[in-house]
Amino acid sequence: MFFMKRAKKTIPFEMNLYALGTVNQIKVYGKNGEKALDEASKRLYEIDNKMSAFKDYSEISKINKSAGKSFEKVSEDTYYVIKKAIEYSNLSEGAFNPAVRPLVNLWGIGTDHQEIPKDSDIKNTLKLINYKDILLDDKNRSVMLKVTGQCVDLGAIAKGYAADQVKKILKKNGIKSAIIDLGGNIYALGNKPDGAPWRVGIQNPLTFRGDYMGTVNVTDKSVVTSGNYERYFIKDGRRFHHILDSRTGYPSQNGIISATIISDYSIDGDGLSTCAYVMGLEEGIKLVESTDRAEGIMITEDNKLHVTSGIKGTFEIINHEFKY
Ligand code: ADP
Ligand code: MG
Repeated sequence: MFFMKRAKKTIPFEMNLYALGTVNQIKVYGKNGEKALDEASKRLYEIDNKMSAFKDYSEISKINKSAGKSFEKVSEDTYYVIKKAIEYSNLSEGAFNPAVRPLVNLWGIGTDHQEIPKDSDIKNTLKLINYKDILLDDKNRSVMLKVTGQCVDLGAIAKGYAADQVKKILKKNGIKSAIIDLGGNIYALGNKPDGAPWRVGIQNPLTFRGDYMGTVNVTDKSVVTSGNYERYFIKDGRRFHHILDSRTGYPSQNGIISATIISDYSIDGDGLSTCAYVMGLEEGIKLVESTDRAEGIMITEDNKLHVTSGIKGTFEIINHEFKY
């Protein structure tokens, strides 16, 4: 289900729809907006139907059900995203882990059965989450998990891919100015209708979604943040959030409270923001600098900002609780 609002010239066509487990909002300016948004919504549902770990009929569910048994042929979309996920796993030496799903299920963060698991359960689950057990057959575009009980999870990268696909559709329809917001995963297409760059808010990791600690001015860029404010529960004064460290079996805890990536492609932003979040400050910044396709802003628990070399000048702090 989605809603579309009609608009005047400099007022956008706007669409809100629920897909990929989140609320998505797309605003487009200029002619052809209605048609572009109609196509974009269909594409979002298509990607969700292929890649959701929750839908029984998705390609990801098929792979998961055949774990330890057989290869499953998947679409070009799903194959591409799995390959990208593995690329980021290799780049981050397993900090990014698309095989983490059994651990995600054990913790149940964001569900009605979230709790701190027993140590023995964590230990047993850790044996199941080796991303190197995701086997690929390029020739037949097929995927298989080595061991029964293993599961793929594209939750940390699928929204980025979807944002890139929506951008492609908008551009094909001649749209020159738009904001694509897939649950906080942003792509700013072109400039604002008045010709100035888009000003995109950077989430304040200490509060709620939509409260910004700073802004960046961007044109044709993706802005993605991974943070501990998205989904979590608090027990005995400790915050247990939804980005897990495959080495410990616990939510990643290394002093980082958010990692933002600015990049040309949103799939890189989504992948790298999760990588940097789990890898921690030094390694995270080093990884982002090394890719040559992204800039990053990381915030540590002491409210300090750490940025990559190319970011200065585009980033403005609006909440002065946060400092360099
Ligand atoms: P969000 O989806 O909130 O924007 P991320 O892109 O960082 O944040 O993805 C987090 C989701 O990815 C989790 O909900 C979980 O399904 C999955 N996940 C958790 N830990 C990891 C990890 N270390 N590597 C890859 N995916 C993860
Ligand atoms: Mg991510």
